Amino acid sequence: MEKTALVTGASRGIGKAVALRLAKDGYNIAVNYNSNTAKAEETVSEIKALGADAEAYKADTSDINAVKAMFREIKKKFGRLDVLVNNAGVVDDAYLLMINQDSLSRSLDINIKGYINCAQQAALKMYGNKSGRIINISSVSSVLAVEGQSVYSATKGAINSLTATMAKELAPHGILVNAVAPGFIGTDMLSSIPQELAEKYIDSIPMKKFGTAEDVANVVSALCSDSFSYMTGQVIVLDGGLSL
Ligand code: NAP
Repeated sequence: MEKTALVTGASRGIGKAVALRLAKDGYNIAVNYNSNTAKAEETVSEIKALGADAEAYKADTSDINAVKAMFREIKKKFGRLDVLVNNAGVVDDAYLLMINQDSLSRSLDINIKGYINCAQQAALKMYGNKSGRIINISSVSSVLAVEGQSVYSATKGAINSLTATMAKELAPHGILVNAVAPGFIGTDMLSSIPQELAEKYIDSIPMKKFGTAEDVANVVSALCSDSFSYMTGQVIVLDGGLSL
């Protein structure tokens, strides 16, 4: 039986690495993105080169109508949904007194509402199969105070909370929900920080290096596998020891 995974924000970074890894694991992949069509199509081509099927879906995950339309299209193309990886997220660091309303709304909408929108639609599809996996990409910032990240940390703390609640609600339906909380991972999201700050961050990591998107993808892959069929509601921290 062919299995399908939807990875949100899979045009770049962690989402792309997860999409490629799950394709290697035998899933067909729905590649969600927001604006970067060329990059999303690149991900699709790389997945197809691995022998899996894939299609790109442009949808702002914070827009419930766009999300519903995406899930309808995924059902038409792939028939079923086995895995949702809620990954699409934004970071917009600002000290408390500098936070502006637009940035605040955008972060709350994408990082929290977007995850709930997709989980809701995925659960509707997974109920019928009495099985499914939802993996929420959180952040170590959810458990660690990082100056300038009060909004980002709050959104990721919310993801940890909703992972536990969703896990409890969905367990009777055979749907397992877990989260991965990465530390610093070398993607576009991180490349915006100045070199001196990057060096300061590296120095604070016991393993003295940033993680890679593939490090995160490996954990997501494991959480989707049969080896993890009795674990739900957990947040796996993957940070080179940063939070210790
Ligand atoms: P990234 O390189 O900036 O990529 C972000 C991805 O999300 C892109 O594919 C982007 O699509 C998509 N996206 C953004 N807003 C969206 C929306 N409204 N609807 C649909 N897609 C949207 O980010 P990343 O570093 O891979 O981070 C991915 C996730 O990991 C995020 O949840 C982030 O908080 C978390 N995380 C990252 C790090 C890190 O150090 N990088 C650490 C901890 C946690 P477009 O290409 O179309 O813009």
